[in-house]
Amino acid sequence: MKIEIAEFAGFCFGVKRAMDMAWKKLQDSQGNTIYSLGPLIHNNQAVERYQQQGLKIADSVDEVEEGSVVIIRSHGVALSVYDELMSRNVEIIDATCPFVSKIQKIVSKDYAKGKAIIIVGDPLHPEVIGINGWCGNNASIIKELEDVDNMELDSTKEYCIVVQTTMNSDGYASIQKKLEEKLPSAVFNNTICSATCERQEASRKLSEKVELIIVIGGLHSSNTRKLAQVCSANCRTMHIETKDDLDIEEICGYSTIGITAGASTPDWIIEETVEYIKGAHKNRR
Ligand code: SF4
Repeated sequence: MKIEIAEFAGFCFGVKRAMDMAWKKLQDSQGNTIYSLGPLIHNNQAVERYQQQGLKIADSVDEVEEGSVVIIRSHGVALSVYDELMSRNVEIIDATCPFVSKIQKIVSKDYAKGKAIIIVGDPLHPEVIGINGWCGNNASIIKELEDVDNMELDSTKEYCIVVQTTMNSDGYASIQKKLEEKLPSAVFNNTICSATCERQEASRKLSEKVELIIVIGGLHSSNTRKLAQVCSANCRTMHIETKDDLDIEEICGYSTIGITAGASTPDWIIEETVEYIKGAHKNRR
């Protein structure tokens, strides 16, 4: 059995930065209660590790104690959330990924100039909800190609278009093409993060040369699900959170296995999975 790990599997720059900032603050809490606004990342196992160090998760600003510390995760939040937090007199550790901050700034600036904002992405994803909060929640959101036909567009208006950082690049290309036909003067900001493209491309390449690919990452993680989608076009694909989700019977039937992982998957979960597969295979020989 040959196991190959895709290039760029696991934590991206923005997630690593946020996790490091949170860990550092937890080690230096000085007795303060430390919250993250929503789970720090879409990975239950990693979140549990941080909770064991004292991190609490607040689902909304209302759950945050006055005078505590609040970590804003890499997805970022709406502008109004900063005001709400400040009114509670909390210390803010802003771990918004700089690439997401850049989108928030584009949206805020163009909205102030009177442009209509379109966000291409999942309307329920926290990054998209946060970005929308930088233009008064007035953006139109396009999730799929079909949405372009169903929305009212006014070609006399100026439009600014931004994209969720983890959007599938092929999916976005077809949406941009269709929008360009309807809005020839719109300004398109392709804000898909290169970490996402690199990871998708490396995983796609690997999926072309193996029989099975295992995609490791939170079942609710949007970028991990997209990786699984890209790989499944080429080979049998399994999306798991940890080694415990593996169907080892099936896995031992393949001779070439690829492993990739979403941006929120810690290295230790990848290593644990590889060792588990190797061990199971050895025991069967
Ligand atoms: S995927 Fe890109 S934009 Fe998103 S957190 Fe990672 S580095 Fe930042």
